[in-house]
Amino acid sequence: MPRIYILTDLEGVAGVARWDQTGATTRGYAQACRLMTLELCACVEGIRSAAPGADIWVWDGHGCGSIDLELFPSGARLINNGPTTPPTLLDRSFDALFFLGQHAMAGTPAANLAHTYSSEHIARMRVNGSDMGEFGCRAALAGSMGVPTLFVSGDDKIAAEARALVPDIVTAEVKVGYAPQLALHLAPVDARDVIRQKAASATTMIGQVRPLVIPGPPYTHEITITGRTDPDGYLARGYTQINATTFIKTTSDLALLAI
Ligand SMILES: [Zn+2]
Repeated sequence: MPRIYILTDLEGVAGVARWDQTGATTRGYAQACRLMTLELCACVEGIRSAAPGADIWVWDGHGCGSIDLELFPSGARLINNGPTTPPTLLDRSFDALFFLGQHAMAGTPAANLAHTYSSEHIARMRVNGSDMGEFGCRAALAGSMGVPTLFVSGDDKIAAEARALVPDIVTAEVKVGYAPQLALHLAPVDARDVIRQKAASATTMIGQVRPLVIPGPPYTHEITITGRTDPDGYLARGYTQINATTFIKTTSDLALLAI
């Protein structure tokens, strides 16, 4: 039976489009978490329809968490949100990685809630000279373990970003991004139908899609910070400053990029 790891986030969920829905103390957060978890239930249903005995582990990867525990789907197992960094319990034994509720990388034009790890601190990230967001960094980390990435849901911009790296990935586009805090959404129930169908399709592709492998080691990690960020933090971690806002480091550790 396949083992599937689902990495959840909040910014790519249908109905979620503004920062006042994604922070732990924001007014729309509780509803956003419910919407996220109902998309998770649909994703698990889709996987189960294709592989009834699938072993499904779910990591609550949004910064402050985004899973409503009371709605968590029966049979799946939860890796709770907390003080941890990827690859949280991800290892070679998994057959596939799914991204649910994912967002595009910082700086993506017309993308909804695009950012790379920290919307306040990171303006741009490049790996080996190419722009890379959370999807790419984490898919590459999984790839280094031999685990392919088969599914992503979110807006049309993360779908395009994912296809550029994993051409055969199955995408569930639940909204169209227009601006940082503006999107055109499917009705949540319709988004769940799309996710259910696409997750089933992705499950049938296990064994047919190669893991994402990027050249290296070593890997060149380049971060452009925003004006709110203290450069000393990067200097202390061994980065070299190449201009006022850009820091670079060569590393052999892909996990460093998948923070
Ligand atoms: Zn998030």
